[in-house]
Amino acid sequence: MFKEIGKYLTKLFPLNRSISGRANEKSLEILKEICSLEIKSIPSGTEVYDWTVPPEWNINEAWIKDSKGNIIVDFKNLNLHLVSYSIPFNKKITYDVLKKHLFYLEDKPDAIPYRTSYYKRDWGFCISYNDFLKLDKDETYHVFIDSELDANGKMVYGEAFIKGKIEEEILISSYICHPSLANDNLSGVVLSCFLFNELAKKDNYYSYRLLLVPETIGAISWLWKNKKNKVKYALVPSCVAGPGKFGYKSTFLGNTSLDRSIEYALSNEDYIKYKFEPIGSDERQYSSPAFKIPTATITKSKYYEYEEYHTSLDNLDYISSINLNLTLDIYLKAINYLELDRKYKRKFNECEFMLSKLGNIYPTTGGTISQPLAVKDHTTHNYTSYSSGKILDSISWLSYGCDGDKSLFDIQNESGIPIDDLIYSLNILKSKNLLV
Ligand code: ZN
Repeated sequence: MFKEIGKYLTKLFPLNRSISGRANEKSLEILKEICSLEIKSIPSGTEVYDWTVPPEWNINEAWIKDSKGNIIVDFKNLNLHLVSYSIPFNKKITYDVLKKHLFYLEDKPDAIPYRTSYYKRDWGFCISYNDFLKLDKDETYHVFIDSELDANGKMVYGEAFIKGKIEEEILISSYICHPSLANDNLSGVVLSCFLFNELAKKDNYYSYRLLLVPETIGAISWLWKNKKNKVKYALVPSCVAGPGKFGYKSTFLGNTSLDRSIEYALSNEDYIKYKFEPIGSDERQYSSPAFKIPTATITKSKYYEYEEYHTSLDNLDYISSINLNLTLDIYLKAINYLELDRKYKRKFNECEFMLSKLGNIYPTTGGTISQPLAVKDHTTHNYTSYSSGKILDSISWLSYGCDGDKSLFDIQNESGIPIDDLIYSLNILKSKNLLV
C-alpha cells in the first residue's frame, strides 16, 4: 500500500496539462519526487513522421462576461472550461456567434465536457448544459482568451531508465496531456511513477524505461527519436483507479509472455478482457508496422466505458487511491511473472535431480504420491503445508523442461501445473544452485 498516492493525485489534479506548456513541465517536476525522471523536450515545428510538433501553448486567463460585466464562465474556476489549445481572442460577440464555440452535453446536464483543438486553430469554451440554458439569446458577450502559441517553443516529456541484466526493454508509457481529469489519465501517470520506483529497487532481468508523454504526438516523437529502440514489450497504464472492474487489453499478438503474465496476475480477480484493436492510447503508435511492439494495458474503469469519461465528473471523487493501489499491485504481479518467464538451463542435464538432497521436500517413506509435508518458504522463511506431491511433480517437470529451450510458461503449458506451484519449485532449484 503506497500511502503517498493520494497526496500526489491531489497535488497534480488542478494543473492545466495539455500537449505542451508550463503545466506539463510543472507536473513532471512534481512526478520527479516519486521516481527519478529526466525532463526532456523536442522543439515545436519538428517534423516527426507524418506529424509536426505543435507550438507550445500556455494560457494566462480566459473568461466570458455579459454586457453588465457578470462573469459567465471563468477558466480559473475549472481548466476544463477552456478548449485546450484555444487561440487568443478578445471581442464582444452575439449569442449566436458565441453558441458556435460552446460545448455542452445535453444528456449529462451538470457535467462539463473536455474538448481540445490541437491541430485546428480555433477557440472554444465548455460549460454544463444547465448553464448553457441560462444564457440570454439577446445578450452581447465579451470573450477574452489570453493564450500564447509559441512556434519557437517546445514539447516536454519525462523519461527514465533502469538497466537490467539484459538490454531488451519493457516500456512503461503513459500520457500526461489531460488537464483536470482523474481516471483518464492522472491515475495512469501516478501509477506509472510508483511502479517504476518499485522496479528501481529490484534486481531486474529486463531493462525498464518509463515514458510520460503527451498522448499520440509524444509517443510518435519518442519513436522518431528512438527508431532503433530495444523495446520488447510495452505497457500503457491508463484509467487505473476507477470504481469499476479491472480490464486487460491484450497485445496485438494476444499470447505473448506479457499477455500471459497479466492473465496470471489477474487470475483471482473479476476482470474484463478486451481484445486488441488499434484504437485507444499509445499502443496505436507502438504497434504500428515499423515498430510492432506488443503493447498491453491493465485498467480499472476503462476509457470509453464509464459515463464520467472526458467530463468534469471524472474527478478526484470518482477515483480512489485504494483502487489505484489495487491496480498497481496487479501491474507489479504481472511484471514479476514476466521477469520469471525465462528459458532456464540446468547446471547439469543428465537425469533427474536427487530430490532428497533438496531438503525437506521428499517423503522419507517411498510410494506415496501426495504426502503433505512442511516446506520452508525461501522468501518468508516460514514453513507452509504445501503438498509434497505437487512439489515433486513440478520439480519433475522443471528437471525435464529446463533445457534452455523452453520458457517457464512453455513448461506450464505442457504440464498444466499451476504457475505459482512451478515458481515455488523453481525457487527451490535456484536456491540449491541447480539452475544456471
Ligand atoms: Zn482521454
